[in-house]
Amino acid sequence: MSHLIGLDIGGTKIAGGLLSPQGAMLSQRQVPTPKDYADFLDVCRDMALALEREAGTQARVGVGIAGRIDRERGCVSSANLSFLTGKPLLHDLEAKLGRNIRLANDANCAALAEATDGAGASCTSVLGLIMGTGVGAGFVYQGKIMDGFNGVASEIGHLPLPHREEPDGPLAPCSCNQQGCIDKTISGGGLARLYEAMTGKAADAKQIAALSNGGDADALRVLDRFYDVVAKAMVVILHTFDPEIIVVSGGLNALPGLYDEVPKRWGRYCCVAQPKTKFVPARLGATAGLWGAAWLWR
Ligand SMILES: [Zn+2]
Repeated sequence: MSHLIGLDIGGTKIAGGLLSPQGAMLSQRQVPTPKDYADFLDVCRDMALALEREAGTQARVGVGIAGRIDRERGCVSSANLSFLTGKPLLHDLEAKLGRNIRLANDANCAALAEATDGAGASCTSVLGLIMGTGVGAGFVYQGKIMDGFNGVASEIGHLPLPHREEPDGPLAPCSCNQQGCIDKTISGGGLARLYEAMTGKAADAKQIAALSNGGDADALRVLDRFYDVVAKAMVVILHTFDPEIIVVSGGLNALPGLYDEVPKRWGRYCCVAQPKTKFVPARLGATAGLWGAAWLWR
């Protein structure tokens, strides 16, 4: 077993980590994400080689990245990094580093990490859900990412919210050219839109959480509705993957009451009155993507 390197490619930063063959995190680095493709490839190579020097031996490299991955062509379509469009990223990274590399969607990497070392470590089926700027998900069954034939199996963010009613908030247009997607409904922006629709005031998700912690009646009323909306979205997951556990990461994962309120409500919208699925916060935090990228080789 070799040392493992995980690179987590984000819109603003690239995080890298070196794991021992036993899976201990030995070192982490971070650099700003470059603005063009040639620099991007160089920065990825330099970070992997710098981590490898610390290991003192050749390591296996896994890369997690936001966006849809075309596995046949090794291309990524990313809303964050438009310079990647149409580029044979996997091929070019492998040429830069002179070895095979594994590449996966970042939400799938985070799910894999939580299923391996995090909140879902004892579970057979784990759905990793990111609720932040956007909504991403990854499904891991018996330790393997199950992303489907086209790589879209867990893209629940681009399905419409089921059982939507008018008080669930405005229908916002989405990057996928539809409107009312789950991505635009249970994300930070979705919560802010609901707050504005219900109160006529502007606040972001962090402010709404702080207001509700202080007992603000408006914020509590908005979160009460929001948890109903999240419960409706979770029914998409229950009726497709039906996982043993849903592990939530991203900026909204610390909303007060989230883990109690959503499971109280999802039975109303599900074929099963009391789904047994656990609904819990992620354990690995912001480093989950990095662990998962390295675990692509385990
Ligand atoms: Zn969409």
